[in-house]
Amino acid sequence: MSTPLFASRLRRIKPSPSTSAADRANELRRQGRSIVNLVVGEPDFDTPAFIRAAAAEAMNKGQTRYTLMAGTVELRQAIVAKLERENGLAYGMDEIIATSGAKSAIYSAFAITLEAGDEVIVPAPYWVSYPDMVLACDGTPVTVACPESNDFKLTPGQLEAAITPRTKWLLINSPSNPTGASYTFEEYKALAAVLDRHPHVQVMTDDIYEHIRFDGERTAHILHAAPQLRDRTLIVNGVSKTYAMTGWRIGYIAGPRPYIQALDTLLSQSTGTCCAVSQAAAAAAMNGDQSFIGESVAIYRQRRDRCVALLNAVPGLSCRSPEGAFYLYVNCSALIGRMTPQGTRIQNDADVVMYLLESEGVAAVAGVAYGLSPYFRMSIATSIEVLEEGCRRIARAVAALD
Ligand code: PLP
Repeated sequence: MSTPLFASRLRRIKPSPSTSAADRANELRRQGRSIVNLVVGEPDFDTPAFIRAAAAEAMNKGQTRYTLMAGTVELRQAIVAKLERENGLAYGMDEIIATSGAKSAIYSAFAITLEAGDEVIVPAPYWVSYPDMVLACDGTPVTVACPESNDFKLTPGQLEAAITPRTKWLLINSPSNPTGASYTFEEYKALAAVLDRHPHVQVMTDDIYEHIRFDGERTAHILHAAPQLRDRTLIVNGVSKTYAMTGWRIGYIAGPRPYIQALDTLLSQSTGTCCAVSQAAAAAAMNGDQSFIGESVAIYRQRRDRCVALLNAVPGLSCRSPEGAFYLYVNCSALIGRMTPQGTRIQNDADVVMYLLESEGVAAVAGVAYGLSPYFRMSIATSIEVLEEGCRRIARAVAALD
């Protein structure tokens, strides 16, 4: 009997649906089709010049070697200062560890804590990678559907109902990918009241979109509303989205020392230290002029307003205006059951997305990938011209349905 080549942990997970959608769009483009790509999950801006200059300077000064495992002193000082200045949260240097992107931070936090059968509460719609990361670490994702009628947010009642003796983590992502939904201070207080009754539940906050806010509000944090949770909370963040630095691969975790020490051990035996040059760039980003954030957010806001208006004018579609992040989560429930000009009946949001791609060359990602249907996600991290063209094509495709 031959043993399988790949481990069961690999067989439990699937490739990222957004990557697959982007691949399909690129394939069609290669075939000569005109494609409007609304899949992208990264800022369309260049990394600000002063950050690139800091990286060049670091390279030229010879900062091209391994660093301390937890990250350079400069980077961790910048993170400590950032958490204090922007979030009013006090963390020591030994309560921070740098990782190769927030993605690796989340995966590593699961890897150091999950045993087979441990549960992670993942409010849906969720970022596509969460459930698969839990599965890859032998855990069980417990997804909780958070409907649009509650602004895609988890209620205290839902949280209470989802907690079992095996619950290890509650995962919070605010503003959220894919909906942009953002929790308020009061909502965090109410969730924390439930968590107070269940001291075995730890909290992981993915704050990667915290700066991309359209309502002028500062993103609240559960630790503002419930400082008593600090001993069982890990803060995950990074520079990818805020500073248009997706390719630099710098994320971090802030949390109690025992977690950081465990992460240090795991990362020292797996990824090793993160890129020294990128660490210098990330420190410069956090310490330097922050005006890039306001400028880019103003552009995202214009795009959001324009696209939400265009999509809501399409009979059969509706789109809630997100408070943050750079995605729209478009409700396409009225298209289910309709007939395409090719005579196929649309059964679900995957069919909607396939139809938009095949008929008009618009690439988006089906809501099923995010755990809440029937929706599709479109990114607004692309130019207003591309977005307007995308919305025009979507409107044409929808109008052609019977
Ligand atoms: N968390 C969320 C919610 C994301 O949408 C993404 C990227 O799409 C990440 C984390 C990954 O960030 P990083 O580039 O730092 O790995």
